[in-house]
Amino acid sequence: MKGYMLIAGKKVYTQEEIKIFFPYDGSLVGTIPRGKEEDVNLAVESAKVGFEKIKKMTAYERYQCLQRAARIISKRANEFAQLLTLEVGKTIKESMGEVGRAVNTITLSAEEAKRILGEEVPFDAAPGIKNKVGFYRRVPLGIIGCITPFNFPLNLTCHKVAPALAAGNSVIIKPSENTSLVVIKLAEVLIEAGFPPEAVNVVTGYGEEAGDALVRSKDVRMITFTGSVETGKIIMSRGGLKKYAMELGSNAGVYIDEDQDCRLKEIAEKVARGGFALAGQVCISVQRVFVHEKLFDTFIEEITAFSKTLKVGDPRKDDTDMGPVIDENAADRIMEWIEEAKSLGAEIVCGGKRISNTLIEPTVVINVPEKAKLFKKEVFGPVIIVNKVSSIEEGINQVNNSPYGLQAGIFTNNLKNAFKFSEEVECGGIMVNEIPTFRVDQMPYGGVKESGIGREGPHFAIEEMTEIKTICFDLT
Ligand code: NAD
Repeated sequence: MKGYMLIAGKKVYTQEEIKIFFPYDGSLVGTIPRGKEEDVNLAVESAKVGFEKIKKMTAYERYQCLQRAARIISKRANEFAQLLTLEVGKTIKESMGEVGRAVNTITLSAEEAKRILGEEVPFDAAPGIKNKVGFYRRVPLGIIGCITPFNFPLNLTCHKVAPALAAGNSVIIKPSENTSLVVIKLAEVLIEAGFPPEAVNVVTGYGEEAGDALVRSKDVRMITFTGSVETGKIIMSRGGLKKYAMELGSNAGVYIDEDQDCRLKEIAEKVARGGFALAGQVCISVQRVFVHEKLFDTFIEEITAFSKTLKVGDPRKDDTDMGPVIDENAADRIMEWIEEAKSLGAEIVCGGKRISNTLIEPTVVINVPEKAKLFKKEVFGPVIIVNKVSSIEEGINQVNNSPYGLQAGIFTNNLKNAFKFSEEVECGGIMVNEIPTFRVDQMPYGGVKESGIGREGPHFAIEEMTEIKTICFDLT
């Protein structure tokens, strides 16, 4: 499949191309143009025109376009899912799940287009002020640059583009160079659904080239970014005066309290699913599990037994539970981190082997020291670490013992412990009796500490993607 950039609705090609490979076997999926600064400049000129056009559309028209886009994607779900599996390497079950969520994210954004509200400002509440009335409105920012990662290229791009368009902004999307083809399809659907072609632009290419040019553009009012902490920091240092939303990484922790003996099997299964979904390449994958010492041994037996039942292999097959990681470099790094933990005294109780260039067994490692990379950093691979703790206090301290703070989970029957955990754990979202991997698309979602700035979920993204304009009338 030969990909292209979409600028003002036109297909733009470049001589230099980037190849996209199927992570499972390295076969060629397609190519995309290696876009550069000049392509970003063209997209910016297009998006300026697009903004003038989209801001004249009514809220109802924007709602209708988004609803139409959701219907088109829903009808073409199989086609989108198959491409997702080829680009990301996620299983076909996971790809169908992502398409369903993307349809939901667009539908939620359509609804939100109809409720972007302002409020009356009580000007006469200041001393000596009379005969002044007014209000504030939320108005679109203008051009929004959307930079997205490889792991959920469809739904995470929808989380940026659909609220941006719902609020009347124009967009320039810079998708991950590994997974751009599905994003090009999404942009085409949005144009087919009725948005001005100049308002939906895609520039493909490398982050340091096309991405950096987008970040530095003075005409781009906001960069909404999902990706790694390292890239997020570079973007904020390069972009200058503009708004930023930063949805970054994590190494999510979960605590299992001493009273959970009667449902340990169920919890172990949930934890394993949360750690091994998409081969652990989810920003809220369960990475660090802290189990009360009374339940530690049984928990290890349960999670190991379940993890061994997972079928690892070709993600195109209906019965595959876990596919490959994105590329060989990622697999090399994950294996190095497992080896490092082992050399520091940790023990592998399940998996730990590389099946092929990109397939790694679902791996459970216990007693991992704090200084190991598997503890401190984001592994973004199919590895769960399980350590013993002796109290709720220690559980909270260990969950907090991380530079990240996206989501965390606790399993307990003790109401006080649940409350204490939700109060004291520093994260954007706390899941009680649920794994940290739980997310629905309408909820406010985002992190604290190095996990980011701002919240997604269409209602909350629209707040970030609009600004307040105050209007005051003198009636004397
Ligand atoms: P990445 O940071 O390598 O790349 C993300 C995007 O940034 C890509 O499009 C890339 O081309 C672009 N980019 C790279 N360098 C750039 C630069 N200098 N300027 C502008 N753009 C640049 O991330 P990835 O490997 O694609 O994704 C994995 C990461 O994303 C993980 O850390 C994961 O936790 C995070 N993530 C976070 C969330 C969330 O919602 N918090 C969701 C999914 C993934």
